[in-house]
Amino acid sequence: MAQTTPNHTQTVAGWAAHDPSGKITPYIFKRRENGVDDVTIKIMYCGICHTDLHHVRNDWGITMYPVVPGHEITGVVTKVGSNVKSFKIGDKVGVGCIAASCLKCEFCKSSQENYCDQLQFVYNGIFWDGSITYGGYSEMLVADHRYVVHLPENLSMAATAPLLCAGITVFTSLKDNNLTESPGKKIGVVGLGGLGHVAIKFGKAFGHHVTVISTSPSKEKEAREFLGADDFIVSFNEEQMKAGTRTLDFILDTVAAKHSLGPILELLKVNGTLSFVAAPDKPLELPAFPLIFGKRSVKGSIIGGMKETQEMMDVCGKYNITCNIEVIKPDQINEALDRLARNDVRYRFVIDIAGEDSANIH
Ligand code: NAP
Ligand code: ZN
Repeated sequence: MAQTTPNHTQTVAGWAAHDPSGKITPYIFKRRENGVDDVTIKIMYCGICHTDLHHVRNDWGITMYPVVPGHEITGVVTKVGSNVKSFKIGDKVGVGCIAASCLKCEFCKSSQENYCDQLQFVYNGIFWDGSITYGGYSEMLVADHRYVVHLPENLSMAATAPLLCAGITVFTSLKDNNLTESPGKKIGVVGLGGLGHVAIKFGKAFGHHVTVISTSPSKEKEAREFLGADDFIVSFNEEQMKAGTRTLDFILDTVAAKHSLGPILELLKVNGTLSFVAAPDKPLELPAFPLIFGKRSVKGSIIGGMKETQEMMDVCGKYNITCNIEVIKPDQINEALDRLARNDVRYRFVIDIAGEDSANIH
């Protein structure tokens, strides 16, 4: 039992990693009572983000074990605090990466909670009461309602789960770069995984020409035929990379490992922007020449604010955008994490937390 949550009273079954081997085992822990600002959620599904893999293996050196990962959570509200007006029992809801923020700073006030310097994550964070947060690889969650969104009725709760992190991360980057309402641009997506495949879908929904830049030639057919990509460049194919020089207005880089940004920057037109959203543990190589000769910019962003997360969900409802998922049972989490590490997933694992019950709620 975690020592950090002495005042927590609700016993919850979940799955945790206990050391950098990253091996996940069943884990019983406690959560707080439902407070006046909280909603309690019966978790139905939770996506497996590459960030979970970084955390369970302590890639970034910040993991507080035992860690219960999971920040792509969908479920059903079972309790509502007295201050909560926007949710009721039975609502289908989603929770992403954010557990708490200061609520007072300029970023919280403008619903950019993701840039609050007191930001606390849904797992491996420290909540207001001093307890360590535990994520969605568990049967139940108590969440402050300010960090919860409504799910569109027309979308599957399983295929919606990864939108809570992968979806909002790429949506915010596109929005931040004026690509949600100005169609006809040429955009590139580097890395066709969880984030990358949703980026293609948003790119197409917003009317752009989308080029995938990938290390996996085997993903080309599917990228074109099922995800709607217009073009596909294999990043180690020098001829293809050369042909792509100065063709793109904007590139979103989602590659979860160290790589050089030089060859990618060459694909941008003069004045183009590379938005980096991945989080490799090692610094990236950033050569000066492709930057200065093309007046190009490199920027980064982390997830999105809560208002934007709801907006993204509503956009997904409107365009029928969900994720391509492989649903697994909790006892397959270790296998799924190993396959994710080997780049063997099309394109997101989602854990069926509630088992049989999930079949009834789609
Ligand atoms: P993912 O599903 O594993 O996709 C990453 C893709 O990168 C792979 O499918 C692969 O695509 C490509 N890749 C090429 N070489 C790789 C290598 N050596 N190791 C891993 N991937 C390689 O991961 P994800 O869940 O989309 O997350 C991507 C990154 O974004 C992670 O670092 C994650 O922590 C980070 N992230 C950041 C935010 C944020 O807010 N900024 C939010 C969520 C996740 P190809 O086969 O096409 O080359
Ligand atoms: Zn994530």
